[in-house]
Amino acid sequence: MRILIAEDDVTSRAVLEGILTQLGHEVVTTVNGVEALEILQQPDSPMLAILDWMMPELSGVEVIQEVRSIPTDSPPFLILLTAKDKKTDVVDGLNVGANDYLVKPYDKGELIARIGVGKRMIDLQAALVESQKDLAHQATHDPLTGAMNRRAIMASLEKDLERTLREDSVLGIGLLDIDHFKAVNDTYGHQTGDDVLCELVRTINSGLRKYDSLGRIGGEEFVVVMPGKVGADSVSQFERLRSSIQKTKMKTRTGDLAITVSVGVVCAPPGASIDDLLAMADEALYQAKAGGRNRVTLAESSLHEDAVP
Ligand code: GH3
Ligand code: MG
Ligand code: MG
Ligand code: MG
Repeated sequence: MRILIAEDDVTSRAVLEGILTQLGHEVVTTVNGVEALEILQQPDSPMLAILDWMMPELSGVEVIQEVRSIPTDSPPFLILLTAKDKKTDVVDGLNVGANDYLVKPYDKGELIARIGVGKRMIDLQAALVESQKDLAHQATHDPLTGAMNRRAIMASLEKDLERTLREDSVLGIGLLDIDHFKAVNDTYGHQTGDDVLCELVRTINSGLRKYDSLGRIGGEEFVVVMPGKVGADSVSQFERLRSSIQKTKMKTRTGDLAITVSVGVVCAPPGASIDDLLAMADEALYQAKAGGRNRVTLAESSLHEDAVP
C-alpha cells in the first residue's frame, strides 16, 4: 500500500519510513503540510497518510480540514501523529476528520496495528464503491445487450432536450424496431433471437458518434438519439445506420443471420416535449412498417418549417 508520511522531524520521519518500508509499504514523504495537501489532492494519491500535527506552513490538523472539505467517494484514511497528549487535543484532531491518532512516543506494535485498521477500512471502502458502481450500472443498463435501459435512455434524452433549449440546438431521435423478429425466434429459437439483439446493439454502437446515445426501450425496439442532427441530415444518418444493419451478418449460435430494421425519425426543435416527440417517432415507425419495412421514415411534423430550425 502507498502511505504518505508528513513529518518535519528528521528522526521521527526516518523511523516511520523504516517501519513502513519493512512492512512492504511504498512510502511517500514530505516535511510540510502544504506539500502533504498537494500530494493528497493528486488523482492517484496514497489512501493512507500519517500526518504530524506540528509542521511548517500548514499543520496536520489544517491538512485534514482541507482534505475533508473535498467531496470524494474514496476519502483517504488519515492518522494524526502528535506530541500533544491532552484529551482535548485528541478530541479536536478527531473532530476535524482524523480517522485515528497516535501520541508520540508511540509503540511500534500499536502503530502497525493501527495501519492494519486503516488498510481494512480502505479495502472495505473500495469494495463498497465498486459494488455501488455495479448497482448503478445494473439500474441503468439492459442485462442482455448492455445498452441503456428504458429509464436511462429517457433520462438521457430529457437531458439532451434541455440542452437544445439552453444552446438553441436540435436533436434527431430514431425509434428503431427489428423487422419480423418473431420469425427469427420461431425459426431459430429464443436464444438465437437474444444473440441477434446483442449483435444489433454492437452494430449500432459501432456506427454512433460519442455524443449519440442508444437505449433498449422494449423487446426488439430501440431509441437512438443524435444531437445536432435534423431534417435531411438526420434522415441520412439513420439511413446509414439502417443500411449498415442490413449488411451486417449477425453472428449467432445457429450461424450468421441477416436482419433488417424499420426506423421512425423525429427531429426535435429546441424545447420540444419528450412525450410528443416519442409519439411522433412512433407514428413514423408505424408508417415505415406499413410502407414495407427496412426503411427510415421521417415524422410528418418534422417537415414543418417551424419544427426544423
Ligand atoms: P414487425 O416487423 O412488425 O416489428 O414484426 P415483429 O415480429 O418484429 O414484431 P412482433 O411485435 O410481432 O414481435 C416481436 C417479437 O420480439 C416477439 C417477441 O418474442 C420478441 N422478443 C421480445 N423481446 C425479446 C427478447 O428479449 N429476446 C428474444 N429472443 N425475443 C424477444
Ligand atoms: Mg512536527
Ligand atoms: Mg419488430
Ligand atoms: Mg416491436
